Parts: sequence; C-alpha cells; structure tokens
Amino acid sequence: MAKIIVVGAGINGVTAAIELKTRGHNVVLVDPGPLPHPLAASTDISKAVRRAYGADEDYTALADRSIKLWRKWNEEFGQELYHEVGVMFVRQREMKPGDFEHESFKVLQTRGHKIERMNSAQLWKRFPAWDPEVYRDGVLELEAGYAESGRVVAALVARARSLGIELSDGVRFSRLNETGGRVSGIVLDDRQRIAADFVVMAVGAWTPYLLPFIKNFFRANGQAVFHLKPRHPELFAAERFPVFGADITTTGYYGFPINRDGVVKIANHGPGREMSPESTKRAVTSEDEKNLREFLASTFPALADAPIVYSRVCMYCDTHDGHFWIARDPDRKGLVVAAGDCGHGFKFAPVLGEIIADAVEEKPNPILQKFRWRPEVRVGSGNDAARFNPKTSNAQRRTPNVEI
Ligand SMILES: Cc1cc2nc3c(=O)[nH]c(=O)nc-3n(C[C@H](O)[C@H](O)[C@H](O)COP(=O)(O)OP(=O)(O)OC[C@H]3O[C@@H](n4cnc5c(N)ncnc54)[C@H](O)[C@@H]3O)c2cc1C
Repeated sequence: MAKIIVVGAGINGVTAAIELKTRGHNVVLVDPGPLPHPLAASTDISKAVRRAYGADEDYTALADRSIKLWRKWNEEFGQELYHEVGVMFVRQREMKPGDFEHESFKVLQTRGHKIERMNSAQLWKRFPAWDPEVYRDGVLELEAGYAESGRVVAALVARARSLGIELSDGVRFSRLNETGGRVSGIVLDDRQRIAADFVVMAVGAWTPYLLPFIKNFFRANGQAVFHLKPRHPELFAAERFPVFGADITTTGYYGFPINRDGVVKIANHGPGREMSPESTKRAVTSEDEKNLREFLASTFPALADAPIVYSRVCMYCDTHDGHFWIARDPDRKGLVVAAGDCGHGFKFAPVLGEIIADAVEEKPNPILQKFRWRPEVRVGSGNDAARFNPKTSNAQRRTPNVEI
C-alpha cells in the first residue's frame, strides 16, 4: 500500500482521502482549515443534485448512481443532508430540440426517470411564486433535489478522522517536492516537508495559482450568491418551490427552496469573473445585485424586494470544455490533479472518491476518459449544458458582469 498526501479538504479531497484510506493506503489530508473551509466552493448551504444534463448521458448516469448513494448517506449520517425535493428547469418559450431542457427531458424519459412536463397552468397551480406569464414549458425531475454541502463536508471530515486519516489542518501546501519528473512529496508554507508516493492536488479554484505549470488549463471564476429572506416564506417551501433553473441557459439563474434558517438562496451559473480565491475583489458588486433584482422582479414578484441577508462570491475552477479534470500528470510521476469542477461537481460527492482513487491506482474507469489530462483542449471548447454562456446564448443580457 502507498503513502498518499491529499492536498485540499473540500469535497474532492475529503472523499478521495476516505476512499484511499478504505482501500488500505496510508493517507494524510492537508488543508489550512478551519474545516469546512469558509472560502471553499464546497462550503455552502445548498448544492443542486440533478440528473438533467441535456444530451450528455455520462453525467446523467453518474448522477443517477450518486442519487442512490445520497439516500444511503442520509442513513449513514443519521440526518437528512440530501433533500429529495425535486429539480425543475423551465423556459420562457416552448422547449425545442437542442434546448438543454428538451434534451434533458428526452434522456430522462428514455431512461425511465420520474419526470413531469411543466407548462404555465401547472406552474401557476402548483408553484404560485412563479410568474406563469413568463415561463411556459419545462421539465420537473421528481427524484432529485439538493445537498447541504457545508454540513456534508463537516460530516465527511468527522468520518475521515474516525477512519484514522491524519488531518494536517492549520498548514498550507506551498509547493511540490519534485526532481527529474518525479514528485516525492510536498513542502508546506512553514517549510516542513512531507514525503509520499503520491500527491493528490484537490485544491479547486486554487489550482491555477498553486500549480503554475498547469495554469493555462484552468480558470478560477467567481460567482455571485445571494441569500434572501422572503416576506411570505410559505410560498418558498420545498413542496411549492423545488430547486429550479429559470431558463438557465439564457439567464443563468437558479435557486433553492427555503432552508431550515428561512433563507432562499439564488445564484447565477454564468461566466462569472476571473479572480484568485484569495482576491480582495471577492465580493458581490452593486451590478450583481441590480441584475438579481431585475431577475426577481420578472420571475418571482414575491421576492422582488426581499432583504438580502447574506451574499458571497463562490469560486468555480473552470476547464476549457466544462468537464472535470481528474488525472495523473504524464510529466510528473506521482502527481494526480483532481479539480476542474466548473460549478457542477458537488452532486457527484458519493462517487468522486472512487473516481479519484481509480486515477491514483490507474484502475480502469470509463468516466476517466472524459476527465483525462487534456492540454489539447482549447478555451471555449464547451461547457456544462446548463450553463449560461452569453457568447452562445441569443438572450438579452440578463446576467451580471460578463467579462469574456
Ligand atoms: C456558486 C457555486 C454554486 C455551485 N453549485 C453547485 C450545484 O448546485 N451543484 C453541484 O453539483 N455543484 C455546484 N458547485 C460546484 C461545487 O461547489 C464544486 O464542484 C466543489 O465544491 C469543488 O470542490 P473542491 O474540493 O474541488 O474545491 P473546494 O471545495 O474549493 O476545496 C478546495 C480546498 O483546498 C484548500 N486549499 C486551498 N489552498 C490550499 C493550500 N495552499 N494548502 C492546502 N489546502 C489548500 C481549501 O482550504 C479548500 O478546503 C457550485 C460551485 C459554486 C462556486
């Protein structure tokens, strides 16, 4: 068995550490902490868990496996951290072939998943917070929902400790210890060295900054996130307000039902703003807020003037084609990079550890072809099918700060 250092204890790192330990390896998990780390993408009140991925059945199949395991995790955690409240993607016009919603509907129907086609009348009747004059068609996925991501990471960190994984928190990775194309460990910011057979770098949006030799493969993009306190909370309870994407490929907006603290979270799955995760610019702007208000006024009149009780810029680690990057570095023996979430990786938490461990052990796993080391892929080669890209979308600009 090998000695393995996992750098970064967000969802990629902690699930990888647990799986590698379970497979008998000697694992050290390094993160400055506190855990869950406040700046980490994984540290949040909610992340959507959906099978809808347009025509991309690889992700739908992976999400399907994950959802079955999320239910099992609820039992193992002894608390409901995954809430199966349904996920709905609606459009402002009829769905047509090629649309994210239409292709998702087709794939989910063919695979026999529990879905419903949503039209204005149904929206009006069942989900009164929505303005049915604006949204006309879409798909509701019943066996999907959201996970309380920060709480999930906290539960997994506790599990990692209980498994005897050595948790080096309070220290920071500074650089790799490498000679002649071989990585033999890491150097910490206090100059301490830790030796290992393998180093798994799971540092999310910090990847291009901590591994400058691969900075051109990734881009750290900040996304505005808002927590609102509705004046009519009953309208936003999960049974009347499932997780949603509101014409997401043309507006970028998506959100969640009211949570245990009475908060409705709304954010944007758009291009975002490039910045370092530790940048002082990491705050929502007045333009982010103005665009949010415009969106709310046009879609959820009852939320249009709701107070914003918290906001944050959360970081995507983007790749050029929207797919994850989980692979061994062909030029540095012993290095595995597990990053490139592109804003849609958390839902796969129950299978991420296995995928990353397979990459470390070079075990055959078909999905690793999609996440392979791919320097040939150029900027703009694609995106998560649900993502708003102003360059490809013919929509009026309804989202903030497009800088591409
Ligand atoms: C706004 C937003 C909304 C999202 N919504 C969804 C969603 O609805 N559904 C979904 O599936 N996914 C969603 N995602 C994506 C999801 O959050 C990511 O896939 C996931 O959290 C990435 O986890 P990670 O472990 O790669 O990175 P992170 O969670 O960011 O963890 C990286 C870790 O690296 C550590 N680190 C940094 N520097 C160092 C260092 N020098 N030494 C040691 N450790 C270090 C940090 O402390 C941190 O703990 C969203 C992301 C964002 C930003």
